[in-house]
This record gives sequence, C-alpha cells and structure tokens, in this order.
Amino acid sequence: MKITKEEAKKNIDEIKKKLLKWSIEYYDNDNPIVDDYAYDSKLLELKKIEKEFPELITKDSPTQIVGGTPSSTFEKTSHTIPMLSLSNAFNDGDLFRFDNQINSINRKYTYFIEPKIDGLSISIKYSSGKLVKAITRGNGLMGENVTENIKQITNIPLTINDKRDIEVRGEIYIPLEIFKEINKKRINNSEKEFANPRNAASGTIRQLNPDIVKERKLKIFVYWAHDYKTKEFLWDTQEETINNLRDLGFPTSPESFKSFDIKEVIQGIKKIEEKRNKLDYEIDGIVIKVNELELCSIIGKTSKFPKWAIAYKFPPNIKETILEDIFQTIGRTGRVTYNAKLKPVKIDGTSVQRATLHNADYINNLDLRVGDTVGIKKAGEIIPKVIYYNESKRLSSFIKWTEDKICNACNNPLYREEGEVDQYCKNKNCPSRIIESLLHFSSRDAMNIEGLSIKQIQKFVELDWIKDVADIYLLKEKKEEILKLEGYKDKSVFNLLSSIEKTKNNDLSRLLFGLGIRHIGKKTAKDIARTFGSIEEIENTSFEFLLEQMDLGEVKAKSIFDFFNSQKNKELLLKIKRVGINPIQNIISIDRSNKFFNKKIVITGKMEDATRNEVIDFFERKGAKITSSLSSATDFLIAGVKPSKNKLDKIKKEKIISVINIKELQ
Ligand code: NAD
Repeated sequence: MKITKEEAKKNIDEIKKKLLKWSIEYYDNDNPIVDDYAYDSKLLELKKIEKEFPELITKDSPTQIVGGTPSSTFEKTSHTIPMLSLSNAFNDGDLFRFDNQINSINRKYTYFIEPKIDGLSISIKYSSGKLVKAITRGNGLMGENVTENIKQITNIPLTINDKRDIEVRGEIYIPLEIFKEINKKRINNSEKEFANPRNAASGTIRQLNPDIVKERKLKIFVYWAHDYKTKEFLWDTQEETINNLRDLGFPTSPESFKSFDIKEVIQGIKKIEEKRNKLDYEIDGIVIKVNELELCSIIGKTSKFPKWAIAYKFPPNIKETILEDIFQTIGRTGRVTYNAKLKPVKIDGTSVQRATLHNADYINNLDLRVGDTVGIKKAGEIIPKVIYYNESKRLSSFIKWTEDKICNACNNPLYREEGEVDQYCKNKNCPSRIIESLLHFSSRDAMNIEGLSIKQIQKFVELDWIKDVADIYLLKEKKEEILKLEGYKDKSVFNLLSSIEKTKNNDLSRLLFGLGIRHIGKKTAKDIARTFGSIEEIENTSFEFLLEQMDLGEVKAKSIFDFFNSQKNKELLLKIKRVGINPIQNIISIDRSNKFFNKKIVITGKMEDATRNEVIDFFERKGAKITSSLSSATDFLIAGVKPSKNKLDKIKKEKIISVINIKELQ
C-alpha cells in the first residue's frame, strides 16, 4: 500500500530516532541493546522508504553516516582518507548486481575476497619504520587516538622494515576462547558481561588502561595499506597488498584469496562459510573487493561506503517459536535477569526452550509480549537470545509486558536506582540470592566443594538446614536426617561430608573470593590474602590503608571495607570461625619495610636462577604489585638478562634495578 509523503516523514523520523538510540549504545557505549539483526532490519525499512521518497533523505540519516561519535576521553584525530563502512549483499542476486556495476566501467578486473572479521576497525600509522599513531574509525572522518592501547596488542609490529609513511588498516578482535574467559571473570566479579566479542574488543580499546588491553590478549588482521602523505595505495593489487603486509610482519587472514569472476567469488564464499564455525574468531560475512586498486578511484564511493567493495552478510541462524512466558531469576547480588520460556525449538541440533532477555529495557525495546512468535538466535556457544517478534503473528489479545515489581523468590519489592538499567532484590535473606551465593561459595574457583550440587543446595535451603555459607559445615550434624532423604546412601553422604571437611583449611584467598564481596575477583582476593593473612587483620584495617597502601582504587577499597564492617557480616565471619573454617595464613609474613612492599613493578628480561613464575612469586611475596606495562605510576623496572630496550628507554634511570640472579635481592 502506498503511503503519503507526510506518513513517510513520520515513519522516517520514528525509525531514525530508534536507530540513533541503538547506535549510541552500540558504537559509543559498546553496550548494544538490540541484536544486529533487529538493527539491520530497521535500517532496511528506512532505506526502502528513503528510496521511495529520496527528497526526505537528510545528511544525518543512518543510511548516510558512518559509525558513532568519537569519545572525548581520547584525543580526537582526523583521518587522512575517510574510513568508510561497507554496503551489504544478502544473496547471490545482490552480488550479481554489484558485479554488473563494476563491469559497467569497461575495464579488466578480478576480485579478492576476505573474511569479514567482526571486530573494531583501526588505522595504524608508521613513520620511518616505527609505529607512531593508532586511531579508531569513529565517525569515519575523525577517530580516537588509542596509540598506547594498540601498542599492547602483541601481534601488531611496533617496527617494520619499510621506511615509507605507511598507514595500515585492519580489524581488532578477541579470540573466542579469551572472550569466554573474560565474561566468566566478569560474572565472578559481579560485573556486567560483554554482549559479544565485537563489543568486548571495542570496549577494551576505548578505555584508558593499557594493562587491560594486554591482559585481554586482543589480536588483529590487517587488510589495507596506503601512503598517508601521498594518499596513494602502496601496491597495485589487493592480493599484493596482503602478501606484502604479511612479509612486513602483519597478521593477514589466511582465508583470503583471489577470484577471477563473480561466480568464483560465490564458490569462495561457500568455502569460507564452511570453515566459519572452526575459526577461533567471529566473522559475520565475506568482503569482496576489486583486486586492481587503480580502479578504485574510477569506480568511486559514496559518503558511507566504497563502490568497489561489498560485504556479503551471512544469513543469521534464526528460528521462530512461541514465547510462552517471561520469568525472572535473581543472582547472588540480587540483580534481576529476565528469561524467556519458549516452545522448544531446534537450533544447531540442540533443543532450545529458554533464552535470556537480560533486563526490562531489553524486553521493552523489542516490545515483546507473552504469546508472540519470536525470533531466536544462537551464535557459537553463546546463550540463545530472543531478537524480535513477528509482527504478522501478533494478536491484539497479547498484553503489553510490564516489569515485575516484586521478587518472586521472597516477595520483597524490586528496586532500580536512578539511571540504572538493572533491577535488584535488596533482601539479603532472599532464598534465590542465598542459593546463588552458596553455589558461588562452593564453586571450583572458590572453596571447591566437590559433589555439592545445585539440587542439594536447593533442598537443604528449602529444609532450612542452610541459611548461610557457614551452615554448610554444620551439615554433618544432620547426617541421620540426610540419610532419610530420597536418593542418599551411606557412601554418598560420607563423600559429601568429607569433601566439605576437606575445604576447612583452604587458602584464605579462596574463602575471600567465595564470600562474593562485590568487585572482588580472584586476583584481588589473592592480593588481600597475601597482605593481611587473616580475616581478623582485614577486619582491623582502615579504608585509607586499602585505598592508599593496597592501591585498590576507591570502588574495591570501599566494597571490602564496608563488607568487613557490616554487623551482619561480622556475625557471619564469627560463625565461619566457630564452625571450624580455618584458612591457611598465607601472608608469608611480609616485611612491610622491604623496599618492594606495595610498589608497582614491571619485570623485563630473564633471571639466571629462576623462572619467570618464580620471579613473580618472589616479588609478590615481598608485597609488590606486578604489572605488564610501564606507566607513570611504575616504581621500579626490574631488568634481568636481555631486557627490553624499549622499556629501558622509557623509564628514568634511577627506577631501573638491574639484576641477573634473583638471589641478589634476597
Ligand atoms: P560493517 O561492520 O557492517 O562493515 C564495515 C566494517 O567492516 C569496516 O569498517 C571494517 O571495520 C570491517 N571489516 C572487517 N573485515 C574487513 C575486511 N576484510 N576488509 C574491510 N573491512 C573489514 O559496518 P559498520 O558501519 O561498522 O556497522 C554496521 C554493523 O553494525 C551492522 O552489522 C549493524 O548491525 C551493526 N550495528 C548494530 C547496532 C546494534 O544496536 N546492535 C547498532 C549499530 C550498528
């Protein structure tokens, strides 16, 4: 049905408003609130209306602009040649149309195809063979200067054997295994998970601490090179560019190759698609480029994308099913997560009947209602997600969803702080929170109580035998009663009770981590345990010591101080002691007057009498904090045999301690 110009304008305004909001969250805040599929579908809707009413296209339309706004946290820097986006092809027809356009210039050409890495694009400049600047794409014309962060990525060469003014461009990504580890760690630290590897990569580069970049083991693939003074490409073809970049020491995708015509391109796409699930990074399509680079300027570009390249996007693996219910779960910090109960549907060979809906905003943004037919997407091993509802199957009887006001586990009200996305149950005795806390306490990284399953925990909480972590150690008094429960035999009860007993003398750091103190992950728990050696010492410390001497930062210092000074926690800690939990005093009695105590050190080079881990252990025992890269806060650079010249040059001479044998420092 044809719409009037007025209706078109109204629709355009509405869609633009939505897309703008989603883009800000995606590009500027690295925190997407809808799936790419939902974003792309809306953008397509906008394109269709704009095609019909081209006079309504404005310069600020999402169909015309690239990316987001460069953040003021970093120095803003202009690009010598704009960093554009890519137009999309979704099927063979789109690829043939693209080929027809290229063909219309009447020149000989071939194609070069590369996987489309789902990461963050970056421009890196070299001068006289040295890396001098790295800039994010930003809005295509101007990006953020993130040079220090980029230098932490180990597969980006800091020097190259080519003295020209070279700018390379590439995609930074996080390998999938590392992505999973990062999110696991964030859950343990009660931090929000990254939505996907792309956002994790982008969020990592666009924060200020280079150590975090190093820790997260980001990587790059490069796919472009030009001279930033002459603005000319450096080599004649894309194939040569990739080969020469590889020879210069840059990682380039091994899945790239030349294709003689569009039919061969289509076969090539299939080949890469077959390998997609075996790669250790995410790709969301294939980029097809005209190989002969001199043709680029003849074929031309728009304000948003080059016309000599196109991105073939993989069809998303989406299945539709019925949303039967929306229900909440409460985590150990009280945070509410909403979940979808689905009519079971097979995706990638497994039956999916539950998917995450994150928070109330996510549901409201997608306007999901119970009864809707919804689209479910499952990428790799990441939990399935509901990404849209099917408008044609919505009935008027489906009721608009409103967020829960009450915690279903304890009937207490749910709270949401001003400006926060998440709702919380603040009742510390909420059974759901207790069960989640007990699960965390007994998990492998915390007290590691083997054989204590979620089912058992639920049962013991339901029977009121366990109200807090200390009660786990009193279960032995209920031995006879446990034996009367269904499914328990002498042997299984014996095994459970003895594995509980075994953990009484665990490391203090395990207990600290297991207590689930907000913002305190495994590493901080270890640092605190080493410094204080006992619960009593931590209880007696001051906020200032945690902040200044331990250098924990305000958020962590406050979290620890508040935890150990709350009356309720003091009672719990007393009970923990009474039930016989007696963690190992692993303070190794640090002599606080030693010159490394609480000092930030960086180690470079090797020692003749110790492995790297032994050297780290040596300094940790002295109470030092070891970081991987130099900053203005570094107190000492410990330089062993063959130290990094780069590091030696970067720090004042008086801060360097040259040492060959660690024994020299005893
Ligand atoms: P794009 O990511 O689809 O394509 C362009 C980019 O591809 C380039 O800038 C480059 O960084 C990258 N690329 C990867 N491999 C490449 C290679 N071998 N050669 C050349 N370039 C390569 O375009 P875009 O404009 O950055 O973003 C659009 C995408 O972002 C869409 O997929 C959209 O769904 C998503 N998006 C999502 C939301 C959301 O809320 N979920 C919001 C905005 C945008």
